[in-house]
Amino acid sequence: MGARHHSSSDYVEAAKIRLFMNTCTQCKKEFTVTDQDSLFYEKMGVPHPVLCADCRRQHLLIWRNQRTLYSRKCSATNKPIISIFSPDSPYIVYDRDYWWSAAWDPFEHGMDFDFSKTFAEQFNELLRITPLAAIFNGNSENSLYCNHVGSMKNSYLTFASWGDENVMYSDLSFGDKDSVDMLETGDCQQCYELVQSNNCFDSKYCIQSERCNNSWFLFDCKDCDNCIGCTNLRHKQYYIFNKPYTPEEYKKRAAELRLDTRSGIEKTKREFEEFKKSAIHKYANIITCESCTGDTLTGGQNVRYSFALRDELTDVAYCINGGRNLIDVYDGYGVGFGLERGYLCLDTGANGADNIACFVVWGCQYAYYSYNCHSSFEIFGCTGVRNKKHCILNRQYTQSEYEQLKKKIIAHMREAGEWGHLPSPSISPFGYNETLAHEYTPLTKEQAISLGFKWQDAMPGTTGRETLVEVSEIITDVPDLIVNEVFACRACKRNYRIVTAELAFYRSKELPLPTQCPQCRYDARRSLRNPHTLWNRQCMCELENHSHAGRCPVQFETTYAPDRPEKVYCETCYQSEII
Ligand SMILES: [Zn+2]
Ligand SMILES: [Zn+2]
Ligand SMILES: [Zn+2]
Ligand SMILES: [Zn+2]
Repeated sequence: MGARHHSSSDYVEAAKIRLFMNTCTQCKKEFTVTDQDSLFYEKMGVPHPVLCADCRRQHLLIWRNQRTLYSRKCSATNKPIISIFSPDSPYIVYDRDYWWSAAWDPFEHGMDFDFSKTFAEQFNELLRITPLAAIFNGNSENSLYCNHVGSMKNSYLTFASWGDENVMYSDLSFGDKDSVDMLETGDCQQCYELVQSNNCFDSKYCIQSERCNNSWFLFDCKDCDNCIGCTNLRHKQYYIFNKPYTPEEYKKRAAELRLDTRSGIEKTKREFEEFKKSAIHKYANIITCESCTGDTLTGGQNVRYSFALRDELTDVAYCINGGRNLIDVYDGYGVGFGLERGYLCLDTGANGADNIACFVVWGCQYAYYSYNCHSSFEIFGCTGVRNKKHCILNRQYTQSEYEQLKKKIIAHMREAGEWGHLPSPSISPFGYNETLAHEYTPLTKEQAISLGFKWQDAMPGTTGRETLVEVSEIITDVPDLIVNEVFACRACKRNYRIVTAELAFYRSKELPLPTQCPQCRYDARRSLRNPHTLWNRQCMCELENHSHAGRCPVQFETTYAPDRPEKVYCETCYQSEII
């Protein structure tokens, strides 16, 4: 028998490709844990996950009610407030400013850890007796109806956004100004209905476009001015459906499209949707990255299965929305501005480190299973704690007491199968249908309840209260008093209103009033963004002037499902055609 010699590098190679096959305890699908994942879990001191990545995302997002807002009263001052916690939920809810003040003491209801109960039971109790902040809206001015936002000014119904001014009905909008109905945009001004676009000015209905001005209906265009219905263009002016015109001819043709009327916009939108199908679609928008999979990523190194993240990302997996310095972060939504070693976190970071199962935890180190805590160190199962050290279930300990108790609690949680996993879904303060989980994985009430999620029956909003049925074709016919009227959404029948600042925007841009409610408009924009799911596919390029013979052999992971009609190209084929 010939003995086979292994060099040490053989072992290293073998270790790299070693995969652990696990079966998801919820959906029963098989999922892999790579050796690299294993090292991460080891570093965090947690066991391998029992749920697959999609089910983990679902269990994380039930802690994020991003867009469901209620009118209710502050439990302390009785002041009318806007809140993400419904008035019929069992929680004590404080006005945001009152919650942040020193007028109340989060330690008042602190609890001793009871080793005869699970951690989840006790954390659930703590969340019910300790006041919660009505809304997550930091450092903002005149932006009451905005949630999971920071540094906002004069903005309205805008969510998961940062640093906007005069922005309405937008999501994942960063540093935008004077814009309406935006999704995943940055540094745009005077824009309307933009999706995944940056640095645009006075443009409407653009997708995946950068630095474009005075344009309508663009897909994947860069540095273009005065273009309508164009795809894959670079540095162009006066193009309509990818054909060049003189400025005079362009003006004439643009006027003929009647983009100041609803029917003109609808007609051009339909033509653009058709035209867009023949454009070249890059498999993913991954820019200045190394070894990354996902979509809309910039500045990443070894980022996997992640979406909408930007700048200084190292060893990140299963994260969505955020960036600006993430190191060793797995399973996050809305994480960034400095987060090192984070796992199962939501709206967490701001110079945080070693955070496990943290929701709305900013500037905390060694924080575990905590909800809305800030600038603290070594906290475990806390809520509403600020500027504290060594706390468990909102009770203060000395350092040595804390360290001993923490060890015992982790052992207790390990035994119950709680440690290193998200808390049981029944203790999230939200119904499934109020949260982002429902957006990613829509369920019926029965399905949600059978999986252990809660359900909210009394969702906000009305139907049948409309005072006006006909909505004018052009904005010049609309009187000031329209802001007193109630409309019914043409798609879902829900009632909605037009606010004064919004009316002023439509007037300045000569845009007709919308006939759909903000939620349906948001859903329509979401459908223009690819899903946060990856499929393995082969480049579709068969161009003869490229270096490949026949079909390009390059494989990639893409958000374009295999049955979609678009031409999806690898980076090289895309670059040789478009630039
Ligand atoms: Zn699963
Ligand atoms: Zn609607
Ligand atoms: Zn190719
Ligand atoms: Zn090619």
